[in-house]
Amino acid sequence: MMKIYITQRIPEVGIKMLQDKGYEVDVNPNEHKILSKSELLGMLKVKPYDAVLALLTNKIDNEVFDAVPTAKIFANYAVGYNNIDVAEATKRGITITNTPGALTDAVAEHTVGLILSLVLRITESDKYLRDGKFKGWEPLGFLGLDLKGKTVGILGAGRIGFRAAEILKKGFGMNVVYYDIKKSEFFENDLNAVFYESPEELMKNADIVSVHVPLLDSTKHLINEARLKMMKPTAYLVNTSRGPVVDETALVSALKNGVIAGAGLDVFENEPILAEDLAGLPNVVITPHIASATKPARDGMAILAAQNIIDFLEGKVPQNKVIE
Ligand code: NAD
Repeated sequence: MMKIYITQRIPEVGIKMLQDKGYEVDVNPNEHKILSKSELLGMLKVKPYDAVLALLTNKIDNEVFDAVPTAKIFANYAVGYNNIDVAEATKRGITITNTPGALTDAVAEHTVGLILSLVLRITESDKYLRDGKFKGWEPLGFLGLDLKGKTVGILGAGRIGFRAAEILKKGFGMNVVYYDIKKSEFFENDLNAVFYESPEELMKNADIVSVHVPLLDSTKHLINEARLKMMKPTAYLVNTSRGPVVDETALVSALKNGVIAGAGLDVFENEPILAEDLAGLPNVVITPHIASATKPARDGMAILAAQNIIDFLEGKVPQNKVIE
């Protein structure tokens, strides 16, 4: 009987798919417990597992591969796979898969939610009201920004970047500019978007910069002090990709000193710890890495991850095999 280990409880639909195949499925019993590295190694040594379904909070590297040499597939329950040493896996003939597409709408909509909350000052004024400071309607209270006619700059013109841009263009009448390592026919044809040759050019021109690149060596601190200084003082930064893409200390300083108007963040450089002073800033909207946390997205991710394992164990190439 094939044995599967799941590092934290995922939606039942995925677990059931694996059980229906007759596999023995072991799940970390504590729904809220992110396994530490040593706990994960301990769990994986219990049985000769054939597959591991891992989360973005599990660092999957040499030590993990050594702990469970029988597992020739690690199915990541995420589209980003910066938590996995893919080069080492490839060297060892281990297949890595991810869950692209299933969460595109959720993350794009969350991105738009952060943007709306920022420019309409929703979170900020919600707090003001709850704190008992509301004394009645004011002509000059909480003035925000209309999105119509403003420019959104998308860094990373893939699935999520495109969907966010599409909503902002078609729903809110924004202009779209973008930067990516390659041009996107979808951005050009469907959104009439302007391609910039460099992130710097985009950052100078956008009213909202929204980040959608994967975390790679080349994208770590893509948003740094120098590039933040290029942004308009009225502009906002939104990041729903991965925390280390933004130099969070530099961002806090930019937000404190009026270098930019505000930031909306779903991801953080050292999760779950936030940079000092970040949470106290009024011009920041923060969510705890929940951009993909809709029921359809999480179910869809579970189905994809389970199907990738099933395909692999049945001798097929999984649909979402990561190739680097
Ligand atoms: P995707 O692969 O479709 O798009 C990524 C785009 O980034 C591609 O077009 C790629 O060419 C571009 N890119 C790569 N390196 C670049 C660079 N150096 N400069 C500019 N562009 C570069 O991926 P996606 O499905 O749109 O997801 C994007 C990222 O969002 C994921 O890698 C993941 O880290 C993150 N994500 C976060 C959450 C969340 O919960 N907050 C959920 C899902 C995905």
